[in-house]
Amino acid sequence: MADFQGKIVVITGPSGVGKGTVVQRLISDVPRVVKSVSVTTREKRAGEKDGVDYFFVDKAKFDELIKQDAFLEWAEFAGSFYGTPQTWVDEKVTQGYDVLLEIEVQGAMQVRKRCPSALLIFLLPPSFEALEARLRGRATETPEKIALRLSKANDEMKQKHLFHHEVVNDNLEDAVSKLIGIVQSERSKIVDSHSLG
Ligand code: 5GP
Repeated sequence: MADFQGKIVVITGPSGVGKGTVVQRLISDVPRVVKSVSVTTREKRAGEKDGVDYFFVDKAKFDELIKQDAFLEWAEFAGSFYGTPQTWVDEKVTQGYDVLLEIEVQGAMQVRKRCPSALLIFLLPPSFEALEARLRGRATETPEKIALRLSKANDEMKQKHLFHHEVVNDNLEDAVSKLIGIVQSERSKIVDSHSLG
């Protein structure tokens, strides 16, 4: 067991905003930060690896995991299901790691309820047009799926005030350094509270 526990850090933001890239940077630039690998029923995209990007399962397996209470949170998003494995997150937090959850809004709200000490960050695009251009440029989804994701993005952005911090991902380096600042300032609060006894 570590001297003190890590924190759950939720990174939410519309599909295409660049959550994956900033999360990778946080993992490589900040020690003791890990990312939770979610379980999903979505089809694997080209280049994605099972157990690395997601644990890819069918709906029957996902339902079984819900029944076993294996998820810290789960949600349906654009026709697929996504969930965060509870046990892995608990273990890492106990070992003193900050655990990043790269999840959508409904899941973030479940985490807020179940783990009030979790830190919630909303990543914003510089504009809706920039987000649309990014999603279309990525070309990983059909035009119908892109339209669905854009309408979801609109809904999600209306809930950004429910998060502790909003960070605009206009310039990647600026966004990453803001996020690093947020994570480190949370850590210093924990260290301070320990040194006060
Ligand atoms: P994608 O299909 O683009 O990989 O993910 C779609 C959305 O689901 C993204 O906003 C992503 O952050 C979110 N997501 C990924 N894993 C989880 C999870 O475990 N729980 C929830 N609630 N959302 C997730």
